[in-house]
Amino acid sequence: MSIVSPWKQDFPIFSSRAQPNLCYLDSAATCLTPKHVADAMLHYQCFSHANSHKGLYQLSVSVTEKVEHARARLAEFLGAQHANNIVFNSGTTEALNLLAFSFVEPLLIKAKSDNNADQKNIVISAAEHHANLLPWQRLAQQYSAELRIVPIDEKGQMNLAALSTLLDNNTLVLAFSHCSNVLGQFNPASNICRIARSKNVTTIIDGAQAVAHGPINVTEIDCDFYVFSAHKLYGPTGCGVLYAKGELLEQMRPYQLGGGMINSVDFNSSDYINGPLKFEPGSHNVSSIVGLVEALDYLNDISWQEINKYIDNLSHYLFKSLAELHYFKPLLAREVALTSFKGNKRPSLYSFQLEGIHCHDVASLLDSENIAVRAGHHCAQPLHKMLGVNASLRVSLGIYNDFSDVDKLINSLSNAHKFMSIE
Ligand code: PMP
Repeated sequence: MSIVSPWKQDFPIFSSRAQPNLCYLDSAATCLTPKHVADAMLHYQCFSHANSHKGLYQLSVSVTEKVEHARARLAEFLGAQHANNIVFNSGTTEALNLLAFSFVEPLLIKAKSDNNADQKNIVISAAEHHANLLPWQRLAQQYSAELRIVPIDEKGQMNLAALSTLLDNNTLVLAFSHCSNVLGQFNPASNICRIARSKNVTTIIDGAQAVAHGPINVTEIDCDFYVFSAHKLYGPTGCGVLYAKGELLEQMRPYQLGGGMINSVDFNSSDYINGPLKFEPGSHNVSSIVGLVEALDYLNDISWQEINKYIDNLSHYLFKSLAELHYFKPLLAREVALTSFKGNKRPSLYSFQLEGIHCHDVASLLDSENIAVRAGHHCAQPLHKMLGVNASLRVSLGIYNDFSDVDKLINSLSNAHKFMSIE
């Protein structure tokens, strides 16, 4: 096939002085960086940098304005009602830890003082990334609370009947991924939040993989919290976004403390300001925030409709090509990938094994041909164990990929099978 990505040239890593033959199929781990984003960050750092929210001089004020403008842009991208619903941090992992230790731990401390912490529970799905598992596991262990796991169904989505029975009056929070980083499936977030709301349960959505599919509408989904990382959206690492409903942000206790978050401080007590700055102590990572805004501009300029049409086509071609290999063993049934996405979002990643060869051996062979895929448990070890496998290969797509990348991959997988299979 000869459909070529119209955007590949925007990514300097593919230029002749870098890696013109790179076949990068690991965008679910991190997206490569378009020149626009790198240029915007360099420009900011060279020509406009100062500390935000602190100085009264013009340069600092203009940096404060950049951060606040970014907050408004992110509110728009996430469909939030107000810029003050947006907190900047270093990424999904930090945001989830913030929610564990600023929102849920105080509830457990209160329950402990009422002698009923051991009756409380936290609910997550079986398909969570470790970032959305380990903080909850730690809290559950520390306070003798229960960590309840919602199983997934044959489509790789959360089992909603099981969810309804697992949520109860003692559930402190339900945390789940909008889109799995292993299975690529979208969970029906609005339905899930509706079920949780009917039981008065607070919801946290890990949107790390979902945002690459376009703008989110947290108001429509009606979740309480939504988190993601800029680098999964063609932005830089070191920048993440937490959306929180206003009243929850007011209630929450910051778990990191420092400069820029207070009304007044004495040696014995402090009064924190309200709003997002309460959760952004210290100095903002302004160049990364600038990079994220540039990434949003870049993607908007292309148009999300174009991007999704392109990725959808490519994803269909990828899955069809993989499915033609008789030794291809997807983690979910083959039919799921091809039939269950009518009117929904097709996954832009697939995880699978090759019959008779270890995933790490395949990945090493692919690497020797400059093809980058992920091999292992993709930070979702319990999910792999539940599916009865130790590891899988994961291929994920970005806007720089094209049909020739898929052809190259399939050719190398065929060679791997020919030379390495012990079938
Ligand atoms: N959740 C999901 C679903 C992810 O895919 C990832 C990244 N692989 C994370 C959380 C963690 O993101 P980060 O490393 O940017 O904090």
